[in-house]
Amino acid sequence: DMARIAFIGLGNMGSGMAANLVRAGHEVHAYDLNAEAVKALEAKGATGAASLAEAVRGAKAVVTMLPAGKHVRSVYEGEDGILNLAEPDAILMDCSTIDVDSARHVASEAEKKGMAFVDAPVSGGVAAAEGGTLTFMVGGSEENVEKARPYLADMGKAVIRAGDAGAGQAAKICNNMLLAIHMIGTCEAINLAQKLGLDAQNFFDIASKASGQCWSLTSYCPVPGPVPAAPSNRDYKPGFAAPMMLKDLRLAMDAAGSVEASTPMGKRAENLYTAFTEAGGDDLDFSGIIKMLRGEIGE
Ligand code: NAD
Repeated sequence: DMARIAFIGLGNMGSGMAANLVRAGHEVHAYDLNAEAVKALEAKGATGAASLAEAVRGAKAVVTMLPAGKHVRSVYEGEDGILNLAEPDAILMDCSTIDVDSARHVASEAEKKGMAFVDAPVSGGVAAAEGGTLTFMVGGSEENVEKARPYLADMGKAVIRAGDAGAGQAAKICNNMLLAIHMIGTCEAINLAQKLGLDAQNFFDIASKASGQCWSLTSYCPVPGPVPAAPSNRDYKPGFAAPMMLKDLRLAMDAAGSVEASTPMGKRAENLYTAFTEAGGDDLDFSGIIKMLRGEIGE
């Protein structure tokens, strides 16, 4: 069913996601602090809004795609926030990757006002946002998640409920902590294999059919050749930029501290990605950390 939807945050991810809602037949009212981003969305068939209030008024659904927790809280909470501006029966979906505490705070403020809110962070990068193939991990009551599902399905290939408020964010940061650990391990293994005289393609052929198999190896191989679509084939141009991985690792370590979960490998991964971004890896894909292991950059 076509609906009026407010979309807030038209950056690298949000612009493609909003365009897919337009393509699905919705009437999208788009808002961003950056007027250029609003113009670009108008060219893709959305209605540009001059303010948050203008976008949200009359909308059946509101989607936000913002950088971090502080932006999400400021856009939802307070006098002129979405929780005050939105229609009482609207479904509110935050697709940003933010800290679990902020997600739970916004959810509880929404609940106090009787508004339906879900945290719905995504897996998949800019290409998946543009292609409509994101995976959504969603936190909220079953009722709210079902209300959100058709809109999220118009922007993705999978919509999975992770649990109650904040559970989507929790799933996202746990997944990305695992990804970071796998990537560093994959880089170490390939680097060692090469130093022991093995050919990278040959080691790839073996490990991808052996118990070392993982996504970082077989879909995102950190050396050029074995996986032609991987960023390693284009000088580590992102892809998934190292500073974004570092952001997610910091969220994971904050969350681990708050529940006293032991995450020694996650901590080490955070330290290594900090060193990598400080050593000049901040423009590179996260698989470029192999350059640091080889001593090509940093230290
Ligand atoms: P981005 O910085 O490109 O876009 C954020 C947009 O929000 C910007 O256009 C900015 O102007 C706008 N904005 C900020 N504050 C605002 C406000 N108060 N009102 C209106 N607009 C405001 O970021 P992105 O790459 O699109 O990422 C968005 C979120 O998605 C982040 O939380 C990120 O971690 C997550 N994410 C990104 C990727 C990726 O590959 N880029 C993948 C998965 C998840």
